[in-house]
Amino acid sequence: MLGETRNRPLSCTLFNTVTEAALDFSMIYNAMSINENVEFGARVFSTVVNGVTQFYYTTPFRGTHNSILPLAIPVRGTVASLHTHGAFMERYGAGSNNFSQEDLRWLHGDYLYVATPIGSLLRYTRSTGIIDTVSTLIPSDPNDPRRLNQVSPDGISGPTTNAIRPSWVILSPWIAYFTRW
Ligand SMILES: [Zn+2]
Repeated sequence: MLGETRNRPLSCTLFNTVTEAALDFSMIYNAMSINENVEFGARVFSTVVNGVTQFYYTTPFRGTHNSILPLAIPVRGTVASLHTHGAFMERYGAGSNNFSQEDLRWLHGDYLYVATPIGSLLRYTRSTGIIDTVSTLIPSDPNDPRRLNQVSPDGISGPTTNAIRPSWVILSPWIAYFTRW
């Protein structure tokens, strides 16, 4: 079972696989994440259309330059959690190019995906504990010395929202505990 069926926003795009949804998210939001140096996150849910299971992601929300705390809130039926790691930052080095321990501990769903500044999209499969590379062709940060491709983040924009960022997230003392997750 891949999560429960639930009502979806009328306007959202449906995908045949979770990975296709994650790639679509990454092409838009990794670019924005690099340009603005904030993390973006979204959840993937399944729905059944004419007997066929399909997937969609929720309107992404904005974290900080090193956290995506709203994704730690459990939401029933979450199939996967998607997030980005912002722009290249010297102090995080290669750490930005993989899941953090906080990602694996706090994010929800059978699959976790992270889009990195070097232009890779990684997937963690909870049932096996395996991390694999889904793509190295998503937008990357020109300032990152480890950059894997020449896909520019320039000129890509999408809907932005702070709708799911309550003020307690910003004020929470937890935030001091998390670094780039
Ligand atoms: Zn992370």
